[in-house]
Amino acid sequence: MDKTYSPQQLLTVNRKTGSSIDLPLKGHCKPTKICLATCYAKRGTQAFPFPKRKQKYISAYLKGNDLNQMIYELKGKSAVRLSGSGDLLPKHVANVIHMAEAVPETILWGMTRKPEIAEEINGAGLPNLSILLTVDASSPKPVWDYSGAMCFGPRLEGNEVPRDKRIITVFPYHAGGRIIGNIPKHYKDCPAVRKKKKGCLECHRCWNWSF
Ligand code: SF4
Repeated sequence: MDKTYSPQQLLTVNRKTGSSIDLPLKGHCKPTKICLATCYAKRGTQAFPFPKRKQKYISAYLKGNDLNQMIYELKGKSAVRLSGSGDLLPKHVANVIHMAEAVPETILWGMTRKPEIAEEINGAGLPNLSILLTVDASSPKPVWDYSGAMCFGPRLEGNEVPRDKRIITVFPYHAGGRIIGNIPKHYKDCPAVRKKKKGCLECHRCWNWSF
């Protein structure tokens, strides 16, 4: 933990998702070929030095024993995205479950590229905690063995979306508020990316699923 720094606010405000818990990419992500080529957190504001310092702090914080400030910030929020950047580590999972138990009125939702993390988080069986496994056209085969809910993206031009009921949401590749390439519409497309909804707090699809 960086002893010379502590952010005033642990949560990060995000125009699309509302609030998020942002984590580092380095040492956290298991990127696919498509991730490496398209990652939004490698560019833009999340890649600036101050957000990166905060992401590192949050990762260490989520491994620690004192979650009071985070629980205080989560209370009163309707929904908060886990890993708005980066990805969770196995060492974060117990505290994520603990936080969800402490704030039953707040939905904790998000995405991970790691099936073992998705299994553990969804396996907790908490009504306010769920996570989608993210896959894309370059994901390694074993990832598809995961039996739970998924999202597919970034979808590049030419990528087919598998007909698979586990896929809840599709993310056409987008950057700077616009879709990159000629990507056909899909009925599972994120409505915020297609500019049909303002954001997650108006949509709920990524946490309000069952199959
Ligand atoms: S599908 Fe809905 S909940 Fe999921 S990322 Fe898009 S706007 Fe947010």
